[in-house]
Amino acid sequence: MVPRKPLIAGNWKMFKTGPEAEATARGLADLVGQNTSVDIMIAPPFTALSQVASALEASPISLGAQNLYWETEGAYTGEISPGMLKAAGCTYAIIGHSERRQYFGESDEGVNRKTKAALQMGLKPVVCIGETESEREADKTFSVLDKQVRLGLEGLPLCAPEDIVVAYEPVWAIGTGKTASKDQAQEAHAFIREQVEKALGTELAAGIRILYGGSVKPDNVSELMAMPDIDGALVGGASLKPEIFAEIINFGA
Ligand code: PEP
Repeated sequence: MVPRKPLIAGNWKMFKTGPEAEATARGLADLVGQNTSVDIMIAPPFTALSQVASALEASPISLGAQNLYWETEGAYTGEISPGMLKAAGCTYAIIGHSERRQYFGESDEGVNRKTKAALQMGLKPVVCIGETESEREADKTFSVLDKQVRLGLEGLPLCAPEDIVVAYEPVWAIGTGKTASKDQAQEAHAFIREQVEKALGTELAAGIRILYGGSVKPDNVSELMAMPDIDGALVGGASLKPEIFAEIINFGA
């Protein structure tokens, strides 16, 4: 099996204007240099994509979007298509983040349509899944993850393992300062890989990167990354400052 190259991704959510995002991206690009031991992605707001794309021109850091719509074009006010993101320089697109599910009513079926549309346009989807605190307390973690993987990844077009990413983000750990313990995270990641195998086959499951997200910081990234089924991190708050995000990126140094 080809080893899975770690991916460290930053989700800037609804933070930073174009000029602010550009300055942050330039700062990060300077700190990261030509470091290619891990793949790196940042996902600024849509309005900052073009400025961040310019800032990353000479950098190995990839650009990502935080969402997309599945249609190619049309009368869908306020939406952005996969082709528009590709033309803006995106390589990745985050899909089904828990904030989209929680505040904007996104369903597993919608996540599935978006994931297919991203793949068809040659964007790498980062499909987010994870249980809420009450689901974990009610012992429903595994049934929730099973359903999210099954419905979210159903019937995808053929793709290579590096073209699709899953992010396990326990909702109770996002932006709360509570991190899943390395053993809790590993248990969930191993389970998710088994469900990916059922959905997409053995080869894809063995090669696909499964990121952990939820209050990842410089002081907890190394122990998480040491777990066998954790292949990277999706980082919110701690990706907003270049120095802190660079420390996370350099977790192995
Ligand atoms: C996220 O937004 O995907 C996330 C994990 O946020 P935070 O790192 O702030 O918990």
